[in-house]
Amino acid sequence: AYDYSDRIGRVEPSATLAISNLAAEKEAEGADIVDLSVGEPDFDTPENVVEAGKAALDAGHTGYTSSNGIPPLREAIAAKLRGDGIDATADEVVVTPGGKQALYETFQTLIDDGDEVVLLDPAWVSYEAMAKLAGGDLSRVDLAPHGFQLEPALDDLAEAVSDDTELLVVNSPSNPTGAVFSEAALEGVRDLAVEHDLAVISDEIYERIVYDADHVSLASLDGMADRTVTVNGFSKAYSMTGWRLGYLHATEAFVGQAGKLHSHSVSCATNFVQRAGVEALENTDESVEEMREAFADRRDLLVDLFDEHGVDVDVGDGAFYMMIPVDEDDADWCERAIEQASVACVPGGAFNAPGFARISYAASEERLREAVDRLVENDLL
Ligand code: PLP
Repeated sequence: AYDYSDRIGRVEPSATLAISNLAAEKEAEGADIVDLSVGEPDFDTPENVVEAGKAALDAGHTGYTSSNGIPPLREAIAAKLRGDGIDATADEVVVTPGGKQALYETFQTLIDDGDEVVLLDPAWVSYEAMAKLAGGDLSRVDLAPHGFQLEPALDDLAEAVSDDTELLVVNSPSNPTGAVFSEAALEGVRDLAVEHDLAVISDEIYERIVYDADHVSLASLDGMADRTVTVNGFSKAYSMTGWRLGYLHATEAFVGQAGKLHSHSVSCATNFVQRAGVEALENTDESVEEMREAFADRRDLLVDLFDEHGVDVDVGDGAFYMMIPVDEDDADWCERAIEQASVACVPGGAFNAPGFARISYAASEERLREAVDRLVENDLL
């Protein structure tokens, strides 16, 4: 019989995937579900990127690549990061099958049993799971009382961080709140990181989807270059979720360590996908801008619709999520939403933020209107 590891017993399946699976099941049974639970853009991958992938297949790029990625992609990533003010070279990059793998490798590379990991709540579901799989203990700072912003919560963060802290995870723009942290907030993070000699993960996967704010890369701030692991991916910016492509950037020494895990687990990211990745980085500014504008319009539409129904939302300036406050237990509310109104949302509890439901607005304006109508008709708003 199987004798499961303690490690695997520490985690639960992804709550967001569980809801999307339930929505998909109901749809398969014929229900018309407005699925606002998914963390994936509803656009096609830009055509030139698809063509680059096909051309790479036709050219026979189907074998293993060097473990950390093909040189042109590592170079293109380093050039992109230099554009963000990070002094990056290709040797400091590991190309991974998705940003998730980059995060997983980072936790495994840095965290020992009992090491303290600080999360800013509401936090994306997988950080907790990855920290626990690595043996870490969690310390959490709640941004909900501060409108999901970090700057007014810096004192709370200072209290949570100590010399026992190994790692702090920052995700801006944030999933699930959409919050974009101010430069002053990131400077506050820097000051604490330097004072306590912390490593910081900066998960910047939504960085191309920002509205009335500027994205600042944490590793570009003085003092952060040799303590930040910058994680990014192609899923959200270029609507490439199923291609599975992402990366991490850190010091060359870090890459030497994480690269061991990478080579013994995934070997490398898919060859022809990496080649399409170069095209995505170099020739998609227009497509990215179109998607960004569509998300901005949808966000504004939702804010207006919620406002009409008296729901006051702390709206973020990035990503394609918002957290709406609910008057009852958030798991019950989300269950009623899907069972009675056929609208799928994720309970805030999944992000350690009870009392909210996460709405993803990666859906057409028509479907967003439909969702709000249904929630109103069923007394959920
Ligand atoms: N980080 C955050 C905050 C996310 O929301 C996601 C995806 O939902 C990821 C990382 C990982 O994305 P991927 O593995 O598709 O690159």
